[in-house]
Amino acid sequence: MVELTFYGGINEIGGNKILLEDGERKLLLDFGFPYKRHKLFYEEYLKPRSGAGLLDPLLMGLLPPLEGLYRDDMAEPGLWEQFHDTPVYRKLDRVDGVLLSHAHLDHSGHIAFLKDSVPVYTTATTAFVTKAMQDSGRADFDQQVCYFSPTTRDYPAGWKQIACLSSNTVNQQRQFCVADIAPDELSPEARQFWSWGFWEKRPRQKELISCALIDHQGCSFNLRCFPVDHSIPGACAWGIETGSGWVVYSGDLRLHGKRAGLTESFIEAAAGLRPRALIMEGTNVSREANVSEQEVYENGLKAVASSKGLVIADFSPRDVDRLLTFWQIALETGRKLAILPKDAYLLKTIRLLEPAIPDIAREDSLVIYQDTTASRSPGVWLRDICQEYDSRIVLAQDVRVAQDRFILCFSFFDLNELPGIRPRAGSVYVYSSSEPHDEEQEIDFRRLHAWLEHFNIRGVGLPVESKDGWQIPESEKGLHASGHACGPDLFEVARRIKPGVLIPVHSEQPGFYVEHLGGVETDVLLPAVGGTIRI
Ligand SMILES: [Zn+2]
Repeated sequence: MVELTFYGGINEIGGNKILLEDGERKLLLDFGFPYKRHKLFYEEYLKPRSGAGLLDPLLMGLLPPLEGLYRDDMAEPGLWEQFHDTPVYRKLDRVDGVLLSHAHLDHSGHIAFLKDSVPVYTTATTAFVTKAMQDSGRADFDQQVCYFSPTTRDYPAGWKQIACLSSNTVNQQRQFCVADIAPDELSPEARQFWSWGFWEKRPRQKELISCALIDHQGCSFNLRCFPVDHSIPGACAWGIETGSGWVVYSGDLRLHGKRAGLTESFIEAAAGLRPRALIMEGTNVSREANVSEQEVYENGLKAVASSKGLVIADFSPRDVDRLLTFWQIALETGRKLAILPKDAYLLKTIRLLEPAIPDIAREDSLVIYQDTTASRSPGVWLRDICQEYDSRIVLAQDVRVAQDRFILCFSFFDLNELPGIRPRAGSVYVYSSSEPHDEEQEIDFRRLHAWLEHFNIRGVGLPVESKDGWQIPESEKGLHASGHACGPDLFEVARRIKPGVLIPVHSEQPGFYVEHLGGVETDVLLPAVGGTIRI
């Protein structure tokens, strides 16, 4: 009997936390950051207290109370006694690993809390992306996926109680096991990247190792890792052989992106396993159709060609396929694509594993927009990027005097650069991302509209507020291809894989699966939060 317990990703998009137990053997399928529940209580200036370690996320229901699973350095003495009466409290003696589907934080973020001894199984690209994101960002204590700073208790003289847990500045890297490449085949540059930042070598720094080498007290799992297409490189689905047959976990996927062939191969291979269960995402299960990346290219090209001034393109920079789409548009329209240093760092990182990714040093049409920083000591990664690509750096004044020569890859949070650029009449803001999902994002959209009005910039593909909510004007649709398959595609994936049971996750409308596939074709089981399904 195999037990699947769902601690997150139920009736919500993201926050997947699934525990698979096959007798003594236990695996987690993703361990994501639960944005929806987090936003219920917190915002930018009201956050879980890092100094309180595990207490806040456990007590606020952001993290399941599974004693034995989390880092000891984050647990105050007596912490667990407070949770013994909580409904889903359990003591877990061992967990053999977490299978990470991709580097979006709603799948990976809470790996930050896991015990150091729990290895992360994933693709080499995902491992590298988690590191690049963390190196170049400011990961809070609840999002430190690739490495973390262990905390120690401080008892400053004269204080009546423990005032804080203070972070050591020395980072501890997690053990990553990669499924798609033998680590000894990595180039010296790739190895160097993985160990970069760990000035104090072992045991702080941990080499990548191959999945095949992991064997937990003779209880190793037979695993299959299937690369799939999603809006971030390195995404994969998983197959796990259990005593009840194969269990397949889709992660996030689509059939309409540039790498649709990967998802196709996954479907065939997964069907060949004749799986007992398929745990499947359903983000867009209620959507009838997709916009393809090719349409984004065509519509984006029209929008950019119509502009006589600056073009700002707003899309997720981790969506490297979208970045390449806009690079192509830049080439077609005689402009340069200006990306931010952290995007350049990500591109350079992915190129270590995927040589087809363009080399910024060799492409005149790719430049790096160095934003204004007040910091006297920028991160070492930033200094290195600016030195390495010195001839590719542009500043606000360079863009200001030649606005029709650039496509600037900015998002909402980069708009404060505009006073230095002063966009001219005829400038365009191409919005190539998803519509607002919550009130906070709606407020940001109102601000975005105000910025564009202030600088007289025309928005294209931008959601506008109407009595039916926020919608993109009909004539401006088709500028964003979702990372997730639409309903008909998801049903096709499920029909072709033909599992014994289908378990929808990562969806606000899992009922669509019951309606379309339930009964005759397959058993659709809807788990409850914290609930267990036995197969
Ligand atoms: Zn995702």
